[in-house]
Amino acid sequence: MPGFELIGKEEKRELDNLMDKSGILFRHGFDNLRNGVYKTREFEKNFSNQMNVQDALAVTSGTAALLVALKAFGIGQGDEVITQSFTFVATVEAIVESGAKPIICDIDSTLNLDPDALEAKISNKTKAIIVVHMLGTPCNLNPIIKIAEKNKIKIIEDTAWGCGGKLNGKYLGTIGDAGTYSFDFAKTITTGEGGMTVFKNKSYLDKAKAYHDHGHENNPLLPRWEDSRSSSGFNYRMSELQGAIGIAQLKKLSSIVEAQRANAKKIKEIIVSKGYELRKSPDGSFETSDAVVFFADSNSKAKKLRDSLLSVGISTKILPEAISWHFAGMWNHIKELEIDDKKEFCKKSLAILNRAVAIPVFVKMDKDFFKKIEEKL
Ligand SMILES: *Cc1c(COP(=O)(O)O)cnc(C)c1O
Repeated sequence: MPGFELIGKEEKRELDNLMDKSGILFRHGFDNLRNGVYKTREFEKNFSNQMNVQDALAVTSGTAALLVALKAFGIGQGDEVITQSFTFVATVEAIVESGAKPIICDIDSTLNLDPDALEAKISNKTKAIIVVHMLGTPCNLNPIIKIAEKNKIKIIEDTAWGCGGKLNGKYLGTIGDAGTYSFDFAKTITTGEGGMTVFKNKSYLDKAKAYHDHGHENNPLLPRWEDSRSSSGFNYRMSELQGAIGIAQLKKLSSIVEAQRANAKKIKEIIVSKGYELRKSPDGSFETSDAVVFFADSNSKAKKLRDSLLSVGISTKILPEAISWHFAGMWNHIKELEIDDKKEFCKKSLAILNRAVAIPVFVKMDKDFFKKIEEKL
């Protein structure tokens, strides 16, 4: 699961460095007061180097990262954006906030967007698809990219759980037209709250930079108070405090993912030995292994397994218990989804999710944990 297990002296050292050398907590300006310390800028640079992209934009949350990407693509009123039924509510909130209409597509046994269900959801208003690498397992991107190219639709990868994961050797979030990351406190690396957006095409990144900063273009020829502007915007700027923490956390990303993968491997072996079916992943997947998901025979069996694990202090993650925050069919409170018939809405997805059980994976897991799972499954 996460960077929060590893908050320590490296993060403190970055914060001390910020306070001792600079004390400027705003990412822009104050050039002669900050001793050359630009933490958010440095975090963006390190992040883009790690992910092998030209540039990256740090923002205040993963939800903001999604909205900034949609805005950079000029998506809004009158447009439609497709996403998958199994995600966190934030994906749909970002679409609604952009002004576009969210269209929900079923998932398959990867628990990510089902490419075979996608074309039926596309209309002449569709401008983008937000795929989600849910719980760190890559979605089946190759067929989705083909469909998107054919229909001239943008792909945004919601990589909130997938930071550090790969598909066919490429980092998740860098394969589609845009990728968004979350650094909230439960994600693979954390800045407390925070996010990042990357784009394939630099012109969209420039639009995103302006949008996330009240339209500021940060024209090097002008002082900020006379800055040039060509669009309206909002404030989703990351502060230097978050940037400093991000620098330290990013250095831990690879070792976090490796540790999670090693622990997930042990959990998967136990699950398979007990005769359960594991969640599928596309060929070429390198998972961050935020959780290991498997299928029970029925919803009641899944709930029983959950109770049984809980009796020895092991809580499951999202599935089966917190489906209400992660399955679009439950979101009657979002009127833009137009859920008229809850029973019929993404029926296929619900049938899959109802049987699923997710075991959370941590960086630090002792032998006892594996023994308990072995006993209770
Ligand atoms: C966490 C999450 C987000 C939102 O990230 P925040 O940083 O919490 O705003 C978006 N999408 C998914 C799939 C998430 O899990």
